[in-house]
Amino acid sequence: MRLYDTATRSLQELPPPPGPVRMYFCGPTVYQRIHVGNARPFVVSMWLKRWLERSGYDVNLVENITDINDKIYAAAPGNSGELAADASRWYIEDTEKLGLGRPDHEPKATETIPQIVALIEELVEGGHAYPAGGDVYFRVPSFADYGRLSGRHGDDDAMRNPSEEEERSELKEDPRDFALWKAHKEGEDTWWDCPWGRGRPGWHIECSAMAEAFLGPAFEIHGGGIDLVFPHHENEIAQSRSAGREFARIWMHNGMLRLAGEKMSKSLGNIVSLREALDRWGRETLLVYFLGGHWRKPIDYSDEVLEQAAAQAESFRNVFRSGSEPVGEWEPFAAALEDDFNTAEALAVMHGWRDHDLLRRGLEVFGLETLAEAEAAPVELEGLARRRADARERKDFAEGDRLRDEIEAAGWEVRDVDAEPGFQLVPKAPTWRRRP
Ligand SMILES: [Zn+2]
Repeated sequence: MRLYDTATRSLQELPPPPGPVRMYFCGPTVYQRIHVGNARPFVVSMWLKRWLERSGYDVNLVENITDINDKIYAAAPGNSGELAADASRWYIEDTEKLGLGRPDHEPKATETIPQIVALIEELVEGGHAYPAGGDVYFRVPSFADYGRLSGRHGDDDAMRNPSEEEERSELKEDPRDFALWKAHKEGEDTWWDCPWGRGRPGWHIECSAMAEAFLGPAFEIHGGGIDLVFPHHENEIAQSRSAGREFARIWMHNGMLRLAGEKMSKSLGNIVSLREALDRWGRETLLVYFLGGHWRKPIDYSDEVLEQAAAQAESFRNVFRSGSEPVGEWEPFAAALEDDFNTAEALAVMHGWRDHDLLRRGLEVFGLETLAEAEAAPVELEGLARRRADARERKDFAEGDRLRDEIEAAGWEVRDVDAEPGFQLVPKAPTWRRRP
């Protein structure tokens, strides 16, 4: 099993099963309902967990909830604690509807303060961080490898931490330094007391501490959106490695969702919430949509692409409406997933399968086994189909044809089959179906 690693810019082999495979994925910052782009790392990490477990690996997946962050304070001045609690609940509710199960641990920053403070203390003692005016900053020049993950080197503008620009720069020794702890500001409704005074942690140190708390000082995979490479993950590496931890071995960064050619983001105002997407398209179509794109590449979110995904989901349902045939092999499917978790390729392989058991097994990896449960026809249509079979039995073909037309007018097709009861009702092939 190999995966592309951003740090070495190459495919890296996972240890053989049972591993372990310990994974940390950066979860959402909770200040609104998550958008469908935020759902991608959740979906990819849950699929990877399910696949690795089926392959015999011992997996521990941690996906955090960032419930202390500048964005939350800005979104609900004086009331950020309540907003973060509500939005954490929305996140769980919405991702639950994807039907993929949950990560093994979903820690919150607010529940990890002692570990965060202890890690900052270690960095200060080791000379990698310094208190200044109630804040504590990471001393970037003390970490020689800074910039290796993102490929940003040198002391230029590109190295300034864009998310940290609002910080009082006159307190920093170097413009690249970033905050580990931020002094309490007027109007902020949550704070903790620590050796440097009242305040709250910076975003990057939260993840370093939460990953270590649940996975230990070294782990196999760290994931998140490609937009987190710099500064978030660069800073996580600087903090944890400076504190003597090996930290993550493989860095997986998923591509962004694009809406009308632009990255879906709150700041651009072009977002579709996961809840809206689920209401409109349903979980199966949405999951087939995600399957169709390689996790590392950007994918477009549009009606056209989602309609194609709905048609693909429908074509899987149709396989189960017809008799099972011994067509398809597991091996090329597994090979696609073992080669950088290529779900687009695995999806193409599954489209060739006609063996019901095999297809159900493949779909199950992605939480799509529900496509095997093709819906039953309404009882009254079953009655009409039975009457049609009787009419044909007594060679009253005119009556048989009339009943067939009546069934078709109701949107169903009747097929004659050898198996009992001698007929099969199938919805008249729509190319795709949209949720009401
Ligand atoms: Zn993170």
